[in-house]
Amino acid sequence: MRLLFLDQTGKSGGAELCLLDVATAYQNLCLVGLFEDGDFRQRLEERKIPVQVLAEKAIAVRKSSGAIAGLFSLSQLLPLITRVANLSRQYDAIYANTQKALVVGASASFLSRRSLVYHLHDILSPDHFSQINRRLAVLMANRAKLVIANSQASRAAFIEAGGNPELVEVVYNGFEPDQYAAEIDVSELQSSLGLEGRFVVGHFSRLSPWKGQHVLLEALQYCDQTVSAIFVGDALFGEQEYVEQLQQQVERLGLHDRVKFLGFRTDVIPLMKLCKVVAHTSIAAEPFGRVIVESMLCGKPTIAAKAGAAPELIDHDVTGWLTLPDDSKELATTIEHCRQFPTEASKVAAVAQQQARQKFQLAETNAQIHQHLHSRLAKSFR
Ligand code: UDP
Repeated sequence: MRLLFLDQTGKSGGAELCLLDVATAYQNLCLVGLFEDGDFRQRLEERKIPVQVLAEKAIAVRKSSGAIAGLFSLSQLLPLITRVANLSRQYDAIYANTQKALVVGASASFLSRRSLVYHLHDILSPDHFSQINRRLAVLMANRAKLVIANSQASRAAFIEAGGNPELVEVVYNGFEPDQYAAEIDVSELQSSLGLEGRFVVGHFSRLSPWKGQHVLLEALQYCDQTVSAIFVGDALFGEQEYVEQLQQQVERLGLHDRVKFLGFRTDVIPLMKLCKVVAHTSIAAEPFGRVIVESMLCGKPTIAAKAGAAPELIDHDVTGWLTLPDDSKELATTIEHCRQFPTEASKVAAVAQQQARQKFQLAETNAQIHQHLHSRLAKSFR
C-alpha cells in the first residue's frame, strides 16, 4: 500500500517521533509531506524516508484559535490542499498525523478520491482545543476510513467530542526496548553537567504550560537539598512566555544550584540513565506520554500525573507511581519516597521495565497498524 503521510510541523515532537517509526515500515512506498521545514525532515532523510516540505510557510492556526482565525487560515490553506490533492493521486491513501494535516488531508482526499487515515495523537478536550477546532477535527476525522488513536484516553475524548466510535482502533506507540536497556557509562555526562552526588530527577518534555515543568520546580522546595532536576526539552511551539516564567520561578525559589535546563536533546537515553527518578507532570490529560514508557524501558522509577493515558501505562505502586496533576506536595512526597527507599524503587522500576518490554514493542505496533490499514482500506489497493 502506498501512503502519503502528512504532518504539520518540522519539529520532532512525540507525534513526529511516532510517525518516524510508522513511516520507516513503508519506506519504499511512501512520501512524508511536511507543512514546515525543520529537524524532523533531517531525521526522516537519515532513515531514507522520502520527504517533501509542501507549504511555503508554516500554517498559523493555534489550538485555541476561534472561528475567525480558523476561517482566515483556511484561506491560507487552499494552495496547500490543491498541492496535496494532486500529489495524493500517486498514493492509495492520505495518512494525516496531526490536526492541521487532518484538515488539509481530508479536504485533499475529497478532491482526489483517495482514502483518508487519521492518526490521533491528541486529546480532543476543552483543555487542549477550542470548540471550533474540536468540531472541525471531528467533522474531518469522521470522513476517514480509519482513525488510529494512540491511547484509550484519546479514543474516549474523540468519541466524547462527536467522533464516530466505529472508525477508531487504539494502537500504542512502539519502541525498540533493547535500545533503552543497554548499560551505559554516564559518569562523564554526569560530571560535564555538574551532577555528581546529586539525586537527579529528570523531566523530558517540550517546555509548555500544560506539561507542568513548574510543578516539579515547586516540588523541589519540599525535597531534600540533594535533589536536583534536569529539564530536557525546548519550547517547540513558541511558548517563550512560559520559559521566562520558569526562569523567574527558579530565581524566586532560590533553585538555580539545583536546576538545569538542557534544551532539546537527541541523547535522551543517556540523560535518562543518569536520573534516579523520571517525573512526568502534565497538568492536562496526556494523550499518550512516550516519555513515561521510555523511562520505564530505561529501568528508571517513574512518577506520572494521573490524567489521560498515564494510568494506561503505569500501574500505581506496581510499575511506577501516579500522583494528582498539579499537586507539587504529592510529587515531592513520592520523589522523597524513591530517594529514601531506593531498593523498593528499583524493584518497581524492574517490574516496569519487564512489562514495558512486552507491551510497547515497535514490531507489534507496526503489525497492528499494517493490519488495520489492510482491513479498512483493502479496496484501495492497486
Ligand atoms: N524528546 C527528545 N528530546 C528532548 C525532549 C523530548 O527527543 O529534548 C522526545 C522524548 O524522548 C519523547 C518525545 O520527545 O520521545 C515526546 O513525546 P511525548 O509523547 O512524551 O510528548 P509530546 O511531545 O508528544 O507531547
